[in-house]
Amino acid sequence: MASDRTKRSRRVAVIGAGAAGLVAARELRREGHVVTVLEQSGGVGGVWRFDARTEADALGLDEQRPPESRVHSSMYKQLRTNLPREIMSYSDFPFDAAVLGPRYSNDSRRFCGHQEVLGYLEAFADYYQLKPLVRHHTRVVAVEPTAPGAGAEGAAATGAGGMGGDAGAVEKEVLWSVTSERLASNGQASTSADAGGASNGHSNGLAEVQHEVYDAVVVCNGHYAEPRLPDPSQVRGLLPPGLFPGQQLHSHNYREPTQWAGKAVLVVGASNSGEDVSRELSEGGAARVLLAARSWKNEAWGADAAPYGPRNNIYRYPMVTELHSDGFASFEGGQREGPIDAVIWCTGYKYSFPFLRGAAAEVAAVSDNCVGSPLWLHMVPPGPLAPGLCFIGLPWKVVPFPQMELQSKLIARLLSGRVPLPSVERMRADISAHLHSMQEQGLPTRYTHMQGTDQFAYNDTLAAMCGPDVAPLPAWREVLYQATSALKRSRPEDYRDGDIGEAGGPEAARAVEAAEA
Ligand code: FAD
Repeated sequence: MASDRTKRSRRVAVIGAGAAGLVAARELRREGHVVTVLEQSGGVGGVWRFDARTEADALGLDEQRPPESRVHSSMYKQLRTNLPREIMSYSDFPFDAAVLGPRYSNDSRRFCGHQEVLGYLEAFADYYQLKPLVRHHTRVVAVEPTAPGAGAEGAAATGAGGMGGDAGAVEKEVLWSVTSERLASNGQASTSADAGGASNGHSNGLAEVQHEVYDAVVVCNGHYAEPRLPDPSQVRGLLPPGLFPGQQLHSHNYREPTQWAGKAVLVVGASNSGEDVSRELSEGGAARVLLAARSWKNEAWGADAAPYGPRNNIYRYPMVTELHSDGFASFEGGQREGPIDAVIWCTGYKYSFPFLRGAAAEVAAVSDNCVGSPLWLHMVPPGPLAPGLCFIGLPWKVVPFPQMELQSKLIARLLSGRVPLPSVERMRADISAHLHSMQEQGLPTRYTHMQGTDQFAYNDTLAAMCGPDVAPLPAWREVLYQATSALKRSRPEDYRDGDIGEAGGPEAARAVEAAEA
C-alpha cells in the first residue's frame, strides 16, 4: 500500500449527483482528488427528487428517445422506503429525524416517505459541503478515452499532478474526454444565448456544448430510469402497443392510483414496485387488481386464490402469456381473464450508459442486464482503461447507500494509488469465480449484479481492500436487513408499520437497540 506521500491527486468527473455521486464526491475529495460532479437536474438526490411528470412513451419502448422527453425519477407520490432508515444510511451520517432536525426532516417513521430521503441526501450534501462541487443543468453526452496529452489544456479542473507523487506516471495513463450540454432549467439544451456565452465550451447552434478532459470518470447515473419489459416473444400481444385495447405503462410512469378507480388493472411483477402499486390501486378504488408474477410457485391462482389487500380485491396470477385484442389476458396454465382496462408493468429497469463512446462503450456494453463481461467487483472494467473509468451503485437487491460508500472509498484509493490495482489476470480470475458461482446456483446472466444476502460478504471485501482505516459495516445492519425481509414476507401488507425488533426475535431486538444507540 502506498504511503500518503506518494498518493496521486486526479481530476475526476463524477456523472450524477444522486446518492452514489454524492458519496463518491465526498470520498474522492477526502482522498485528495479534484472533483467535478456533472448533474443534469437542478438539484441533488437523483431518483429521490419526486417528479410528477411522466413520459409520453409510457412503456419506454424507444431507447433512443430524446433526453428532453425523459423523466429521471421513478418515485410515486405515496412511496415509503422498503428498508428501515437506520440501515439505509451511510456509515457515518445517521438517518435519524432528530439528528437531521426540522430543516431536513418532517417524517420520523422508520419506513419514511420519499421526501424524507431527499431531505437526508440534502443534509448530507450540505454537511460535507458537496454542493459547490456540483455543476447543475449539465448533461453528459459523451465520454471516451483519449490519448495522453490530447486536449489536456482544456481540462476544467486544476490541481493534477500529485501530492509529492509521480505526476509523470499519471501523464502516461489514459485520459478521459467528457462532453456535456448545458441545459436550461426546463431540461432543454440551452443555447449560448441562454447561457450568456460559453466559457470553455462552444455553441453548436442549438446547445451550449463543453469539452473537457479528466484523469478519471466515475459513473453514478443510476439504473432506475430505463424501463425493462418482458421479452415480447414470451407475452404475445404486448407489442405493438394498441393491439391490446387497454392502457399500458411501465411503473417508471406510475405516480398515483386515482385514474384507475373503478377499473380492472393487471399489475405484472411482484417485487417491491409491483407489491406497492397493486396495494395503492386497491386502496385507491380499483375494481379489481390482478397481480401476476413469474416467481410464485405452487399457489392457488385467480378466482381460486384468497383475495387480499386494503379492499380485499387483489388476486394473484401466474405470469401473463398473452394480451388479447378483446381486452382479455391469458396466464401460464391457460386461464383467461378480463376485460382488463390497464396493464402496469413493474418488471424492472435496464442499465443504460448512452454517453459512453468507443472503447468505453465496449468495456461496459450491457447484455442481458449485465454490464461489461462483467466488471471487476461490479465497478471496474479489467484492462488498460482501469481504474480511470469506474461505476458505482450497479448491484441490486442491496442496501445501496452504505455499499456505495464502500465502493467510493475503494475507487478513491485505487485512483490515488494508495491501494494498488490488481493485475488484469487477477481481476479476470475474480470475475471467473463470480460467474462460476452463478453457474453453480443456476442463475441466468441477468442476475449478474443481483446480490441479496451476498451483499454483506461483498461489502466486507470492499472494506478489507480499502485498508485498516476502513471498518467493515457493523453486524446489526445485516441482522436488521434479514429481520425486515422476514417481516416483509410474513406481513407484506403492513410490514412498514410492524415492529422489526419484536417480529425478528431477540437478535433483531438487539440490532434495533444498536441502531438506535
Ligand atoms: P440516482 O438516484 O438515479 O441518481 C443518478 C443521477 O445521475 C441523477 O441525479 C440523474 O439526474 C443523473 N444523471 C443521469 N444521467 C446523467 C447524465 N447523462 N448527465 C448528467 N447527470 C446524469 N433504495 C433504498 O435504499 N431504499 C428504498 O426504499 C428504495 N426504494 C426505491 C424505490 C424506487 C421506486 C426506486 C426507483 C428506487 C428505490 N431505491 C431505494 C433505490 C435507489 O435507486 C437508491 O437508493 C439510490 O438512490 C440510487 O442512487 P444513484 O445515485 O445510484 O442513482
